[in-house]
Amino acid sequence: MSGGTALNPKTAPPFPIAATAMVGNTQLRKNVRHATDVIQAKRARVVGEMPDWQALRDAGSAVREHTIRNLPFYLEQFERNCTAAGGHVHWARDAAEARAIVVRLAQEAIARGRTAPSIAGRPAGEPQGTHPGAGEAADGVALQGEVIKIKSMTTEEIQLNRALESVGIHPYETDLAELIIQLGQDQPSHIVVPALHKNRQQIREIFLREMKLEHLGESPQDLADAARRFLREKFLRVETAISGANFLIAETGGVCVVESEGNGRMCLTLPKTLITLAGIDKVVPRFQDLEVLLQTLPRSATGERMNPYNSVWTGVGKGYAAGDGPEHFHVVLIDNGRTEVLADAEARQTLHCIRCGACQNACPVYRETGGHAYGSVYAGPIGAILTPQLLGMHYAQSLPYASSLCGACYEVCPVKINIPEVLVHLRGRVVEENTGGLKTITNPEAMAMKAAGAIFRSEGRFRAAQRLGRMGETPLERRDGQGQKWVSWLPGMLGGWTNVRDLRAMPQQTFREWWEERERKGAPAGEAG
Ligand code: SF4
Repeated sequence: MSGGTALNPKTAPPFPIAATAMVGNTQLRKNVRHATDVIQAKRARVVGEMPDWQALRDAGSAVREHTIRNLPFYLEQFERNCTAAGGHVHWARDAAEARAIVVRLAQEAIARGRTAPSIAGRPAGEPQGTHPGAGEAADGVALQGEVIKIKSMTTEEIQLNRALESVGIHPYETDLAELIIQLGQDQPSHIVVPALHKNRQQIREIFLREMKLEHLGESPQDLADAARRFLREKFLRVETAISGANFLIAETGGVCVVESEGNGRMCLTLPKTLITLAGIDKVVPRFQDLEVLLQTLPRSATGERMNPYNSVWTGVGKGYAAGDGPEHFHVVLIDNGRTEVLADAEARQTLHCIRCGACQNACPVYRETGGHAYGSVYAGPIGAILTPQLLGMHYAQSLPYASSLCGACYEVCPVKINIPEVLVHLRGRVVEENTGGLKTITNPEAMAMKAAGAIFRSEGRFRAAQRLGRMGETPLERRDGQGQKWVSWLPGMLGGWTNVRDLRAMPQQTFREWWEERERKGAPAGEAG
């Protein structure tokens, strides 16, 4: 069993190419449509119960905006308080640094496990793992071992599993959806429900094959039981865990993880060493801020009133709590492009995101293509604005265009991130990047936009363009069975529109012309204007 292949936006095909392939996969589209329909219906129901939902959104937005505006202050406060509670805080500028820190910490933890009696009561030095090579530290070449993982898209962002495996440390995903992805050698397609593109039969086949089971039923209970049996042995044996974080609490130095299955809590409490990775944007100022965010996050994410498991932990157990939870606790704070996002005043709101995934479920583009077309662990509308900013606008340039700008993502966002506004801003940055200082001379799209701008600024030019458009398209018009005129082919750049859809022919009379004619003739008395 390996970690599967990681999504890498730097090498992934551009969105239009990947999306064309995905929309041809009818099973995937059916699975995605069904799952997002179910989650959206649940979300609408539980949000509808909250008379103060808009006030909660405003409060969530205010918390996030205040935090991101004062990020250095709250991060330093978090570091002080986490350290005082017995934790160790590490700072990583980029993915490579974060991987190196986590690998080193995991190796140190595994080495400690070799020299001390384990929680399972094994003698010191006894091999920990069952996969080939585990427990072969004495060869002096590499210290091999195992870790369990929970709830971390950030580890996917930095492609941590590969780094661990390259030094002989095997990671076991314990979140059910992430386990399905790992066992199926697949890639996550949603930030909350990574296996959303799989249906129950496909999951059963993966479990049968990878868990080497002879029989397995099809019900959700059967699948959950199989996963529980598979994971329970890992929880009780592996002594190092790697987790993500939903929130970092500056005032206490605490970390919060919310989840539905309880597997996270097993990872947070049973192992001797806990390594938590979090983007620097995950911090919130006060414990009390969770009051708002823990109401809006589960409702937006999975349509639950409250997450079944909400875990908050601070440092390591001392005094009466000694031996309760991990003995060694590390937090790795990852920048990896986030300060660049912070520097852009118009796009900074991207960092307000609390990763609920509601924008993905609501997006008509995501619902057709699924997540893999985005080439990144962050898919859907949030991925379309986050990924190119984290990487630098040179990569993933097609993502800001992967949207109809319908605004559905903004409507559902619990912290009111105006994603369409950021998308338009990033499209401008893409054009700027591609044209440098010679915008209109070298770039046909920029020239076309400049011409369109000149036309829209003048009523006379706009009317003339409409007349020209009507004349120009007349030879291309075809009638359907109802006598309606359509254009199915347009030349040049305009052909991008008609490649995948027909264009309704322009009406012979525009609304303005109709209105003026009506005024000339004198509108009948009492007719609505
Ligand atoms: S952008 Fe908003 S809706 Fe989308 S994942 Fe982030 S918080 Fe949720």
